[in-house]
Amino acid sequence: MQVPRLVLKPGREKALLRRHPWIFSGAVARAEGGLESGTTVRIDAADGGFLGWAAYSPTSQISARVWSFDQTIPLDRSLIAQRVTAAVARRARWLPDVSALRLIHAESDGLPGVLCDRYGQQLVVQLSSAGAAHWREVIADALISATGCAQLYERSDSDVLELEGIAPRVGPLRGDAPLAATPIVEHDLNFAVSVVDGHKTGFYLDQRDNRHLVQHFSAVDEVLDCFCYTGGFTVNALAGGAKHVTAIDSSATAIAAAAINVSLNGAYAERVDWIEDDVFKRLRRLRDQARAFDLIILDPPKFAPTAALAERAARGYKDINLLAFKLLKPGGLLFTFSCSGGVNRDLFQKIIAGAALDAGAEAQIVRHLGAGADHPTALNFPEGDYLKGLLCQRG
Ligand code: SAH
Repeated sequence: MQVPRLVLKPGREKALLRRHPWIFSGAVARAEGGLESGTTVRIDAADGGFLGWAAYSPTSQISARVWSFDQTIPLDRSLIAQRVTAAVARRARWLPDVSALRLIHAESDGLPGVLCDRYGQQLVVQLSSAGAAHWREVIADALISATGCAQLYERSDSDVLELEGIAPRVGPLRGDAPLAATPIVEHDLNFAVSVVDGHKTGFYLDQRDNRHLVQHFSAVDEVLDCFCYTGGFTVNALAGGAKHVTAIDSSATAIAAAAINVSLNGAYAERVDWIEDDVFKRLRRLRDQARAFDLIILDPPKFAPTAALAERAARGYKDINLLAFKLLKPGGLLFTFSCSGGVNRDLFQKIIAGAALDAGAEAQIVRHLGAGADHPTALNFPEGDYLKGLLCQRG
């Protein structure tokens, strides 16, 4: 039987030769063989030369994602088991004592579309490419065997599934259903994570190091935590000595969970004002009230999933950062983030510079921030570096 294959247009093999794993539909000259969603295809250059073994995704703009660039290493059960084991082992090296962490970071761990987060003994996967969904059971077995955990829950319900043409799937994959609140400890602080109902897999593990950094600078009077979700930064600010925190999120459910997380860490309740509101609106109101803060966190949701939406996203970032600079006391600190894939570090820094200029604030970058070591970026996949942040100090 003929091996299914995609033959690329002349010149379109360049990205693959640099080992970038995505094949866009516009690069494909023709498809041959019985091609089904998620199954393995051989990728050939126009001259017939082998480029990689990929998983086929007929409805996506990304027609295939390469899992192996080596002709002698096929995309099979043993490759997946080996990649999963290697990913888990890398975390053991960098984060040996951390019990809540990302174990698999998709393309950057050689497993396109596979995310796995660990919360204690509970694993949570999100399979968001046709190949990842196709290999679901093999990935599940490999995860259980690499970690020794018994419980694996699937949260394949992100918006990108539709683009990939795969059906959402949510529920236990191995073992029992998760607890309503899974307890985790992060840098000695306690959080309850809702694996079933929370965003993504329940918690924004990518901000672990930055939350800890906020704690270090929080022995101040007034902290403002914008887009607080379940209170990750707020809890750290309180533990770091903040006398008062104003925490804003548009989701009542998130704020309720955040208040519980605060209560799990001490008698802090009276030091927090929870505000259920739109951050864009509320920042204007705080400005009109002439409020001032020593430390501000801006950790908005993804404004631009793709580069095409970068311009609109840039306006959103500029707006909230401009207002934040106006609300910052002299000498105050701004922790500002973007998790938009479509906004790179360079553009983000330009937006923040423009915001400070228009706010009439002099400020310096004191640190460039990003996700922790459990969210590595493969050098052949710069898109993996999605979380960027700046720690700015107002003059
Ligand atoms: N800082 C958090 C993660 C933030 S996630 C942490 O460390 O855990 C982004 C949050 O922004 C979500 O909780 C979402 O409910 C909220 N959100 C989205 N748009 C918003 C808006 N316009 N105003 C206020 N909150 C918003």
